Amino acid sequence: MGRRVDDATPFLPERRTLSALREAAAGCRGCHLWRPATQTVFGEGLKRARVMFVGEQPGDKEDLAGRPFVGPAGKELDKGLEAAGIARDEAYVTNVVKHFKFEERGRRRIHQTPKRFEIDACKPWLAEELHVVGPEALVLLGATAAKALMGSAFRLTRHRGELLDCELAPIVTATIHPSAILRQRDDPARAAEREAFADDLRVVAQALG
Ligand code: SF4
Repeated sequence: MGRRVDDATPFLPERRTLSALREAAAGCRGCHLWRPATQTVFGEGLKRARVMFVGEQPGDKEDLAGRPFVGPAGKELDKGLEAAGIARDEAYVTNVVKHFKFEERGRRRIHQTPKRFEIDACKPWLAEELHVVGPEALVLLGATAAKALMGSAFRLTRHRGELLDCELAPIVTATIHPSAILRQRDDPARAAEREAFADDLRVVAQALG
């Protein structure tokens, strides 16, 4: 018997609506990440959302709540959206990987970056979300999401905030993951990164018109 290939495809439902996809993803066993996590964290937002934001994976708070971008990074995303004038209900938010990958240190669960095979295994869910929502703008949050969709050679530091030539949506751009704001060393650095993030989102708002 050959080695089992990590892949979410066998778990995709017949009906490809957001609610059917969300329900099916709750039972996904396409890779090992479901095992230690609390639950699948599927994307959230309306089918008619104009902008889709794609992050890396759910964090500790999201894993417990079962909803994406509800923790500290989600609050930073909300601030950025507000500064750029993008209404939250115009946005669909999701991640390339739908289960929280972590390492236990005492009572804390520390985020671990997903590996390539885990990202590839989970990508069918994101492909379906993109297909169903068909956003006008796609915003990739952080290097993991950007590389997952733009290819491993993509350099976020070089192309951050640019409008990218990509077939996934009419408008595609990449910026930092909002958790990077929280990792800055002090308040002035956090404020500067927050403003730079808002600037990147303003590019999206302007392109949307
Ligand atoms: S991380 Fe993705 S592919 Fe792996 S079990 Fe979770 S939903 Fe399925």
